[in-house]
Amino acid sequence: MKKATQQQTKEHNRNLVLKTILERDSISRAEVARVTGLTRTTVSDIVTDLLDAGLVEEVGVGSSKGGKSPILLSLVPDSRCLIGLDLAQYQFRGAVVNLRGAICEMVTMPVTGRDGEALALVYTILDRLVRASCRPIVGIGVGTPGLVNTGQGVVISAVNLDWVNLPLAALLQERYRLPVTVLNDSQAAAMGEYTYGEAHSYGKNLVVINARHGIGAGVIINGRLFQGDGGGAGEIGHVVVVPDGGLPCRCGNNGCLETVASAQALVKRAQALGAPFAAPTTPSAPEAVTLDAIERAFHAGDPVARQIVLEAARYMGMAVSSLVGTLNIQHIVLVGEVTRFGEPWLAAVRETMARTSLSRLAQETRVEMGQLGGNGIVLGASAVLANNYSALYEPQALQAAGDWRPAGLNARSALKYP
Ligand SMILES: [Zn+2]
Repeated sequence: MKKATQQQTKEHNRNLVLKTILERDSISRAEVARVTGLTRTTVSDIVTDLLDAGLVEEVGVGSSKGGKSPILLSLVPDSRCLIGLDLAQYQFRGAVVNLRGAICEMVTMPVTGRDGEALALVYTILDRLVRASCRPIVGIGVGTPGLVNTGQGVVISAVNLDWVNLPLAALLQERYRLPVTVLNDSQAAAMGEYTYGEAHSYGKNLVVINARHGIGAGVIINGRLFQGDGGGAGEIGHVVVVPDGGLPCRCGNNGCLETVASAQALVKRAQALGAPFAAPTTPSAPEAVTLDAIERAFHAGDPVARQIVLEAARYMGMAVSSLVGTLNIQHIVLVGEVTRFGEPWLAAVRETMARTSLSRLAQETRVEMGQLGGNGIVLGASAVLANNYSALYEPQALQAAGDWRPAGLNARSALKYP
């Protein structure tokens, strides 16, 4: 094994100390030494560096266990910022987020084109966010639909956006001179719930199912995102659940989970069943049947709307069952547009899960709604960067605020990817 250089050891120790401080509200130097196993002198030197870098501050005095009262240290949440992007079907959303997940700046824009136009929209949003940020930016995290190779930062295929083998991380790195991480949107949602939701208090394993236009799951095992051998872990949306006579799916198959349990599936089903529903709140022309209209009818007690929604929930419950059987992760969180149907939908998911799983496993599994609303993916995409402790300490000094200029690429030329 190669011996670590002095520089590497120093960086490793500094990251360990920073992580320890970041994970707590406040902590003394002595406690950091105890937790990390480093000597008090080493911790003291590192803390001095972190104070100089503005990342950490002294926030008061802790209680003494005999002797001098210790000074408490805490992370300075606004000392750095992160940028998160959520590339959803109809709207792209970007935010500047501080180190504790508070959103400082938000830009949303409707998606009007695909391919190069969609990429240009990403640039427009990022240009604004980078200009708006007055603190050092640690990096950019992107949650995109489709299959992603996170290691190479390549979107292998995103059908909605017409992206095939798009080297998104490289393009953004070149333009913004910042570290870039690209994740599948459901994986980003999982990171968001794990980092900023209540989920972390339950343990280090978590499954988050993201049900919106498409359906996917993000799997966190032992505190880390599990992406599978090809980046496709959690791609449950294209598992066929209606083997005979299922509806065509945008992936080319028929009868995928997405065709029966997603937001678009609900709308198509309502149109096929020939709304109007009984409830007077619902429009009568099929093309006017939207998810909002179904929601109104559902909450007004319309029997057809209830049938459609609860049928979709039961398919979702079966998908949860197969995850329970495969992973036995006891905490499953549901997020995305489809969760708007609330408790009755959740109850049907739980009931089906209980009925179609090994009862002992089902009893020990908690299925809940997410807590971050529409911001989960933006927060999750940015949270990945908050774990990059070296970059937190020394953010790449690309831009003094205000005088940043894009690196001269335009969306058209950038699109000549291999
Ligand atoms: Zn499919």
